[in-house]
Amino acid sequence: ATPTAVMVASGKGASQGVLIKGGNALEKAHKVKTIVFDKTGTLTVGKPLVVSAVLFSNFSMEEVCDMATATEANSEHPIAKAVVEHAKRLRQKFGSNTEHVADVKEFEVHLGTGVSGKVGHRTVLVGNKRLMRAFNVPVGPNVEAYISEHEQLARTCVLVAIDGDVAGAFSVTDPVKPEARLVISFLRSMGISSVMMTGDNLSTAIAVAKEVGIETFFAETDPVGKADKIKELQMKGMNVAMVGDGINDSPALVAADVGMAIGAGTDVAIEAADIVLIKSNLEDVVTAIDLSRKTMSRIR
Ligand code: ADP
Ligand code: MG
Repeated sequence: ATPTAVMVASGKGASQGVLIKGGNALEKAHKVKTIVFDKTGTLTVGKPLVVSAVLFSNFSMEEVCDMATATEANSEHPIAKAVVEHAKRLRQKFGSNTEHVADVKEFEVHLGTGVSGKVGHRTVLVGNKRLMRAFNVPVGPNVEAYISEHEQLARTCVLVAIDGDVAGAFSVTDPVKPEARLVISFLRSMGISSVMMTGDNLSTAIAVAKEVGIETFFAETDPVGKADKIKELQMKGMNVAMVGDGINDSPALVAADVGMAIGAGTDVAIEAADIVLIKSNLEDVVTAIDLSRKTMSRIR
């Protein structure tokens, strides 16, 4: 595209909250045939809520909440925010100090599975089943039953392990964005197929994919796995765009022909992207593709 055409398109995009980082991004976007969407925070609203909580050991709900909060307070993940909020509400109900958060030592983020740390003399893990497996924490039949019950309802389960045993669990729900289904079907009418990728478990992925009308999806994919899947699609000769919001999406955003960071995503994702959709609205994926197609057809 000519510098003028790029400038005009960039200006038009910017006025609609679609920031295009240069002519290269614009040129690649018009050839896109497949768009890969991250689930959490991209297809879903990304503000999950705790809708159920359960205990599996002798620790009280307050103890489990306090230890989970201490650990999750250091995480940027939307699920972490949901857990912290829930614990805060619970403390309010019991009339305890809602601002108090215990110190955590040896805090670690395990991308795509959860967080860990030491609260006092106790070792705390907060995350999914894969995190438990990685730390050799047994997941018994009653925990399994709780997980499968909630995952079928498109919820994500957050397990809290204290000193090597699952002490409690939360179930978190994150509704899909109201425009998601329409955008996916509109993209199809533009000749673009949609794929969903998520670090979340298979049952939740199935439920969400069905809700938005996506047939092809990959679950339990870690950040590097997401980038690998993009490369696989590219090897089939497809021009692939990736839409994501989180740190966990940045390798895939870089690997894609066109990386689109959506919404109030993390700085890392915005940095890694070619196009930034600042409004967090999926309709802007169409806006971006449309803009590039129109610009490129005009100059050819
Ligand atoms: P997505 O690809 O859907 O954005 P992520 O890769 O960020 O998801 O995370 C995958 C899964 O890892 C989540 O569904 C959750 O089960 C778990 N997880 C990641 N971070 C956390 C956290 N801070 N607290 C609890 N669970 C987490
Ligand atoms: Mg995400």
